[in-house]
Amino acid sequence: MSENTSEKKPYIPCSEVLELLWAYISGELPPEQAHEFDRHLAVCPSCVAYLDSYRKTIELSHESFEPGNCEPEEELPEELIQAVLAARRQG
Ligand SMILES: [Zn+2]
Repeated sequence: MSENTSEKKPYIPCSEVLELLWAYISGELPPEQAHEFDRHLAVCPSCVAYLDSYRKTIELSHESFEPGNCEPEEELPEELIQAVLAARRQG
């Protein structure tokens, strides 16, 4: 009984992570893909940061606007924005 040590798949690319981001957050990602997603996040701080910003944006959008509570949101890192744009062009 050998564990599948020789069957390590490559990490999915950042562009794929960005494409799967919404499915991941909404819990619609199949377990296998979610696993790959987690593996990528474990080694890619950029995507972790992006995921974090993404979640915050969603949380903010779910809150109703309250006067006097308009703190500026953190801006996304330029390189991540470019990564998203690149992924969309490829798609
Ligand atoms: Zn990444």
